[in-house]
Amino acid sequence: MSLDPIERLVLELGRLPGIGERSATRMAFHIIRQSQGRDSGSLARDLAAALLAVADEVGFCSQCRNLCRGERCKVCADASRDQGLLCVVESVVDLKAIEATKTYRGLYHVLHGALAPLDGIGPDELKIDALVTRVTERGYREVILATNADVEGDATALYLARLIKPLGVQVTRLASGIPSGGELEYLDHATLGRALTERREY
Ligand SMILES: [Zn+2]
Repeated sequence: MSLDPIERLVLELGRLPGIGERSATRMAFHIIRQSQGRDSGSLARDLAAALLAVADEVGFCSQCRNLCRGERCKVCADASRDQGLLCVVESVVDLKAIEATKTYRGLYHVLHGALAPLDGIGPDELKIDALVTRVTERGYREVILATNADVEGDATALYLARLIKPLGVQVTRLASGIPSGGELEYLDHATLGRALTERREY
């Protein structure tokens, strides 16, 4: 019943995005090689500890659904951020990409995905109700829709604009300059920063 430990490691590594069986096997043997004969400095033990820590300690920020330790993330806890500006992103990776441009000082809302009805991802999965409630209660002056410039990202932005505009909030979208089909996380800082600065009314 129980799997050989090496096979098990290859199997688990193969569940990671972009990792095929070959890469998983190579990684597994690297980890095993770096973990022989020593208790401290063992890659396997360090990895295991790091994985357990994220599983046990990291959760969603109660306000923006960013990942964090504790109740609120660093962005939400920072009173010096512009409290009237909300930027909606698909993922935490996108949030980090926008932070890296150093051109944005408002707050965020992380959807953890984009609308993709064929894959069973609808408004409920993205907890869009919570976003609309947040916008209604907080009275932001502007909501920036910073979803990806692909089919799902555009559909998500359109859907959100239809919900948020009637609340009397200005809704903007990142400027063009993002290549069509473009995913935010792969843009260089300058391009993403410009798309943010030159955002347009939706
Ligand atoms: Zn937060």
